[in-house]
Amino acid sequence: MPRPISATIDLAALRHNLAVVRRHAPHSRAFAVIKANAYGHGLDRAARTMRDADGFALLEIGPAVQLREAGYRQRIVLLEGFFDVRELPMLARHRIATVVHSREQLQMLRELAPAAVLDVLLKINTGMNRLGFNAAEVPAAVQALRSNPGVARITLMTHLATADEARGVAWQMTEFGRAAHGLKLPSSLANSAAILRYPETHFEWVRPGIMLYGCSPFADVVGSEIDLEPVMTLAGELIAIQNLKRGDTVGYGSMFAAERDMKIGVVACGYADGYPRHAPNGTPVAVDGRLAGTVGRVSMDMLCVDLSGVPDARVGSRVVLWGKGNPIENVAAAAGTVGYELMCALAPRVPVVEVGG
Ligand SMILES: *Cc1c(COP(=O)(O)O)cnc(C)c1O
Repeated sequence: MPRPISATIDLAALRHNLAVVRRHAPHSRAFAVIKANAYGHGLDRAARTMRDADGFALLEIGPAVQLREAGYRQRIVLLEGFFDVRELPMLARHRIATVVHSREQLQMLRELAPAAVLDVLLKINTGMNRLGFNAAEVPAAVQALRSNPGVARITLMTHLATADEARGVAWQMTEFGRAAHGLKLPSSLANSAAILRYPETHFEWVRPGIMLYGCSPFADVVGSEIDLEPVMTLAGELIAIQNLKRGDTVGYGSMFAAERDMKIGVVACGYADGYPRHAPNGTPVAVDGRLAGTVGRVSMDMLCVDLSGVPDARVGSRVVLWGKGNPIENVAAAAGTVGYELMCALAPRVPVVEVGG
């Protein structure tokens, strides 16, 4: 028997969540964001399941070309753009759109063959201060693109820093409006949080990521409360049970000490599977459908669970680390991180099981 740990990927849930995007942004088209191996869900699997998406967004040119070669015809965009002038012919040949965020990229674009057909998303820095042109630089950048015979469609784009937080989007929308004024170009602003909360950010193209995978982008809301279904469920089984006496400790560093006699279970899942090592005592775990909490330090291949609330648990009991029956948002919050990081960290050694195909 294989080690009892696996990630179930629910393809029907992925399709459902894409439909939720469409319901929230019915007048926009959507770039399904499949960067980071589709947030750990498998790029090919995610693309295949969302093959009727209006577009895909990712980072690397290799997988983008592979999608084209596999027959995907919709728009595909590289979210950080290109890094070397030698990538341009391949982008044009496969009609892969690129973000252009810097003067260096604009300069490289001058090497583009006049007959090339390159679609560009011009990235505007409206306050994130990572990538993009400031509002004052945008007219010249647009002029450079419009006068470049190799450049085809131009879309304006910016990224929102606080769509999931109290600060909201107005401060960046104002800056975007300033930059886009009079240009009459299609625009793309909204990530998942903005799709869900701010219809005024939707414009022509939205860019959903985390919500496709069923995780809420908001700290105070779990996916099921906004009709999202978890796509990834990381689950295993208890492989051992220990009866502790009061004062006994658990695991490396003795980070947990029993305050009374108690039973704990051992799960075949550790940080080498992608479970966060920093998860403290009490991080939620579902055992046979009941919520329990971790005890002791997560080790490379195992973690331990307090079975006080699950008296019938035995070796072989099903344990959900995150996903259906144990929202990833709650596990992430306990571990001081976000669902994004947990999903992306799913380790290659964890076998994947597809359902709902
Ligand atoms: C990752 C990313 C998104 C998706 O963000 P979510 O919060 O996962 O919806 C959208 N746009 C850009 C530029 C991104 O890098």
